[in-house]
Amino acid sequence: MNNRLRRLRQVMAEKDLDAFLVSTPENRRYVSGFTGSAGYLLVTQAQALLATDFRYIEQATGQSPDFQVIRVGRNWNWFLEQSQAMAFNKVGFEGQNVTVSSYNALIEALQASDQANKPSLIATSGVIETLRAVKEPGELMLLQRAIDISDKALKVIVPTIKPGETEREIAWRLEKAMREFGADAPSFDTIVAAGPNGAMPHHRPSDRPVQAGEPVVIDMGARLNGYCSDITRTICVGEPDEMFRKIYDYVLGAQLTAIATIKPGMTGGEGDGMARQVIDKAGHGETFGHSLGHGIGLAVHESPWVGPNAANVLEENMVFSVEPGIYITGWGGVRIEDLVALESSGARVLSKARK
Ligand code: ZN
Ligand code: ZN
Repeated sequence: MNNRLRRLRQVMAEKDLDAFLVSTPENRRYVSGFTGSAGYLLVTQAQALLATDFRYIEQATGQSPDFQVIRVGRNWNWFLEQSQAMAFNKVGFEGQNVTVSSYNALIEALQASDQANKPSLIATSGVIETLRAVKEPGELMLLQRAIDISDKALKVIVPTIKPGETEREIAWRLEKAMREFGADAPSFDTIVAAGPNGAMPHHRPSDRPVQAGEPVVIDMGARLNGYCSDITRTICVGEPDEMFRKIYDYVLGAQLTAIATIKPGMTGGEGDGMARQVIDKAGHGETFGHSLGHGIGLAVHESPWVGPNAANVLEENMVFSVEPGIYITGWGGVRIEDLVALESSGARVLSKARK
């Protein structure tokens, strides 16, 4: 039997849940292997169901051999029937994913039904996300392949960027290169932020042409077989000025310090502090307004969280980003981001693009 299903059942037993309803797409895929865009998993200690609509029956049957695939419609009738047949009392659901209207529809359906034994719905959070945070060897390999693609695209495109090219043009060339190097898609909308636009950490590429000497923040990633990469480089087209060199060195210093000092057993908050104290000391702490990093896998942003006050403990075989930044309104920004895999001795950097 699939190991992920076994681990989910362990957690269900620890949390005293008779059944668990999975609706988050990445969690559904992680536990069952099913990559379709719609469906639920309903898992008990004895049974594992995959409920999806007619479009996906054949695909789900092929991808999820550990699951009994059932064809369902757009309402909750199937859930009522199964709760009766499987006779469970406490069913956990993913509170961060089920919409209010979907939840209300389920409650109404339960109230309207005449079945004697109605299960109680228990909102949970992070059940499968916690399992996903620690990567299996096969997942590390898939992540590395996605990372290699974005590295390669940066390596090929960055040296060809010329003053006068717009942010949108550069973003498109990077995305095209990732596809040509085998990506299924970009893992998120590519960010290219030139000059003052770089002061906005999530700027959308515009028609602004890149000018010589200004910082250009490039944040991008590839998706391959479901797994995401995420990398940021800040470059300068032409000769960087004194200001650029100074800010770049602070950010790089903060990033390298964090990479060298983050160890398993630290909390996400402690990991974040390793970089933050370097930027604080340089006098730019105010401008580093986001977290140092985030886990990555089937989703671009997932557990563990590496930010101020993040209580999750960083463990071996977690993969997360280390991405400090300094943002100065009117001038621009510098952010440098790499993905690392945590090993017993510390962080191993997975991306190879030059910085
Ligand atoms: Zn990024
Ligand atoms: Zn990131």
